[in-house]
Amino acid sequence: MKRCYFCKGEIVEKNINHMHSWGDKLIFFKQTPAEVCKQCGEVYLKPEVVKAFDRVTAHLEKFTQTIQVPVVPFSELAAI
Ligand SMILES: [Zn+2]
Repeated sequence: MKRCYFCKGEIVEKNINHMHSWGDKLIFFKQTPAEVCKQCGEVYLKPEVVKAFDRVTAHLEKFTQTIQVPVVPFSELAAI
């Protein structure tokens, strides 16, 4: 059984939603195969998955679905 590099917790395979930043772009990958630590939540991506991300970033025009995300400057958190 694989163990987490950081906390030695058990690692399980599952599909996750993963935010990947690339230059000035932020891409939301849905249902991405990954290995995740059950204890601390650390995510491990296999090299072939990261390579697939790179292919997508070169063909972003094929993917038209988008989401909106709030932008929260940390300095403004004190006001709420
Ligand atoms: Zn861990």
